[in-house]
Amino acid sequence: MIIAIDGSAASGKGTLARGLAAYLGFDYLDTGALYRAIALSLLNAGADINYINEKQAVKEAALLDLELTQSPEIRNDRIASLASKVAALGPVRAELLKLQRTFALTPPQGGGAVLDGRDIGTIVLPNADLKFFIDADIDIRAERRTKELLQSGQSVMFSDVLTEMKARDERDRTRSVAPLKASDNAITIDTSSMDEAEVLALALSHVDSAFSPKQ
Ligand code: C5P
Repeated sequence: MIIAIDGSAASGKGTLARGLAAYLGFDYLDTGALYRAIALSLLNAGADINYINEKQAVKEAALLDLELTQSPEIRNDRIASLASKVAALGPVRAELLKLQRTFALTPPQGGGAVLDGRDIGTIVLPNADLKFFIDADIDIRAERRTKELLQSGQSVMFSDVLTEMKARDERDRTRSVAPLKASDNAITIDTSSMDEAEVLALALSHVDSAFSPKQ
């Protein structure tokens, strides 16, 4: 059983994906962490943040050290912004396709899989059993992200987070390869006025109706 979750930055898609995976005993893959890890490995290799060399980015994607996806270093807005520039490159995305599909079809624990990102329901796993598209008002998302970054000890200002998020949203939604958009058969949830528990409960009610035996 495969659940695909796409959505905008700080919409709550990662929290939902982790919650569903824990509740259902499924494996979880945060695909945004893959793009963030490529961004970090580019910086570690001395790349210029303002000029992305496509060949080098593809090489970093092909040789990606998955340990980097666990690094707290990938969780800042500088990396998020670079990740979205790297993610606009078709050959980089192509490099990551196999890894994501293999994870979904043969998850480590052998059960189901939950993947979240921007193009999971549209490109990576168009035949996923259940698809969600998660979004929320931009100011609310920027507020959530500011809180998260402050809690992790980073010193940030709401206005900067909002500006970065707007630019990233625009890039993710308008790029020519695998833009962020809801798959035709995705269930859309606007989390603007919902807390984590409410989002999880709503998603679980859809899981129940999708997977309970039909009469
Ligand atoms: O989800 P997260 O904010 O960690 O993603 C970082 C960036 O990686 C996104 O802004 C997006 O550009 C890119 N991404 C993507 N496709 C995915 C996951 C993330 O393009 N499946």
